[in-house]
Amino acid sequence: MPSEPRQHPRIVNPETYLTGCTCNHEHPVPQVTLYSGKDASQILAEDCHAIYADRPVLLLFDPETYAVAGADLQQRLRAEKVNLTSYQFDSHPVATAALIETVRSFLQDVALVISVGSGTINDLGKYSSSEDQIDFWCLPTAPSMNGYTSGIAAIKVKGVKRTLPAIPPQRIYAIPEVIQQAPLKLRQAGFCDVLAKVVSDIDWQCESLLFSGSYCGLPAAMMAEVEHSYSENPEAIGRGDTSAVMGLFNGLLLSGVAMSLAGSSAPASGGEHLVSHFWDMREPITGREPELHGLQVGIGIILSTACYRRLAQLDKGALPQKAELLFTVTAAWIPEIWGSYAEEVAKQFQNKREALLRFDTLLPEKWDELQALFQQVQPPEYFADLFARTGAPFNLEVFRLTKDEFILAALNSRAIRERITVLDLAAHAGVLEAATEDALQLLR
Ligand SMILES: [Zn+2]
Ligand SMILES: [Zn+2]
Repeated sequence: MPSEPRQHPRIVNPETYLTGCTCNHEHPVPQVTLYSGKDASQILAEDCHAIYADRPVLLLFDPETYAVAGADLQQRLRAEKVNLTSYQFDSHPVATAALIETVRSFLQDVALVISVGSGTINDLGKYSSSEDQIDFWCLPTAPSMNGYTSGIAAIKVKGVKRTLPAIPPQRIYAIPEVIQQAPLKLRQAGFCDVLAKVVSDIDWQCESLLFSGSYCGLPAAMMAEVEHSYSENPEAIGRGDTSAVMGLFNGLLLSGVAMSLAGSSAPASGGEHLVSHFWDMREPITGREPELHGLQVGIGIILSTACYRRLAQLDKGALPQKAELLFTVTAAWIPEIWGSYAEEVAKQFQNKREALLRFDTLLPEKWDELQALFQQVQPPEYFADLFARTGAPFNLEVFRLTKDEFILAALNSRAIRERITVLDLAAHAGVLEAATEDALQLLR
């Protein structure tokens, strides 16, 4: 055992990470480090003892992640004489405010929280520890989403899923064999989530051009360097080839870092994410248990790219001038779709009313510049083909979505967040219905 705690390499190099910045604003230096190797559990256990000695440590897992990595890590932590408490969630835990309270009830005097798992277990550990300003590490078990390194956590509060700020882990320890052997569906979900960035980056550029001027090329530049390692070989991700799956995993880690660097989820979450949030939020109304985040986002990518293609084909002269009417019509659907949550949704939509009303003049004014952006996006067939090539089916039916629920989300999810996305552009350009139909053809 080392006498000094080991330092592992940071996920992005602090010397060079700003190379792609185009905004000249300050970006925080990402601190999160990664150790990846067969012996990651042992290294974690030794580091834990070296840093925290006999201070209390809380280990979180569920039965599935206990089986693949948690049991082994627990044993190694005990062997290193770490002062350990373990908490096992039920299978398929949901990150609710109530469960956060349960975790926090164990945090008295705890110096470190360690999550063993993917999306939900990571979010539970990350959010609980940051609420109480406790150190947080994680041992990922699947390349299923980009949240490991992000500064947000998805938590359900009073039945509504919310994206709340949370401090990313200081250290990540990854066992390639575990990541690689994650179920195919989880790998497919991560593949969709990492590719979302290609589309959401254009959403961000459009919004920035029309309103905020907040765009920075840094996140896209960071991702461009690694993109080839996952986007060119979905079959290998499907087969579980180590280099392809680890390429995907590293892409996901980097995408989360890119988000935290931008200080906003804009680089990795545009219109394609809205449909996923829409279905998560609809659970108490429809009773449909949400599908994996990344898979729902994949459906959103098909919709967003269908919108971009329709927009790219549209002449400036064909742009309708009826922003006010369109806002009123969409707002009128909110009570019917959201029932007791309608007030909250209406508030979000109202927040972007002013911006949307300016579309009548802004869209024609900026149409040439916008079209140059629209034309950069690959068509929906390209993404549908990539997702299917992982070897798992990709359609509405396997994700337990009806045609009606898809159409409802396509036409109305733009109302649930105040951020301007491609769905707003498509609605105001009068092509959202047609793009929804295009997407449906690919999702049957
Ligand atoms: Zn910048
Ligand atoms: Zn995502």
